[in-house]
Amino acid sequence: MLPLLLGAPSGEPLSVLAIGAHPDDIEIGAGGLLLGLAGVALRARYVVLTGTADRQQEARTAAHSFLPDADLTIELFDLPEGRLPAVWDQAKDILEKMARSCSPDVIVAPSRDDAHQDHRTIGEIVPTVFRDQLYLAYEIPKWDGDIGRPSVYVPLSAHVMQRKVELLHKSFPSQRGRDWWDDEVFFSLARLRGMECRARYAEAFTCTKSVIVPVTPAGDHPQGGDSHAHRH
Ligand SMILES: [Zn+2]
Repeated sequence: MLPLLLGAPSGEPLSVLAIGAHPDDIEIGAGGLLLGLAGVALRARYVVLTGTADRQQEARTAAHSFLPDADLTIELFDLPEGRLPAVWDQAKDILEKMARSCSPDVIVAPSRDDAHQDHRTIGEIVPTVFRDQLYLAYEIPKWDGDIGRPSVYVPLSAHVMQRKVELLHKSFPSQRGRDWWDDEVFFSLARLRGMECRARYAEAFTCTKSVIVPVTPAGDHPQGGDSHAHRH
């Protein structure tokens, strides 16, 4: 299958906005993608909408571990966990302000089809405030069993997948006691998604809208577009 390459636009760092409802969402859903961007000139904004002080500290550690080389901005909020639909206005205000102050090339955020109400709320708001971005909605295995049919795959080497799981354990010690937090859950979903895209491991995303622009051998974009996030 022809891959669409995710790289820095010429002369500028690739700009990524990662949004999570809870500390650990971004890393579970897209940690491999972020680790895979090591070495790419990267400007990253890392945003989590809920979390106690302890959990926020975990999120900070995780952001630095998963994005060690990025020009990184971390923004943590303390909206009530499990209640984002009840503070929908505040969630929308935060994301709207973000959309006014940055124009990322790529957004990774939860999906509107996610069964968790906090994830779903963000997934509903993101495309209403960010209208000109490649939005990749990540998946998070959970008790509700909402694993869906993704449209975009990011193949991961065994090394990157190992590193992802190691960093999950190291960054989020508060989650270790949870019955779903284990290597088998993380590796088995990644192996399944890898099988689906003919790689060893993968992370999968849904993307409801993307723009593809042919690039000529000289590197011009005949449409004059600037969809540098999506290049051949
Ligand atoms: Zn979550």
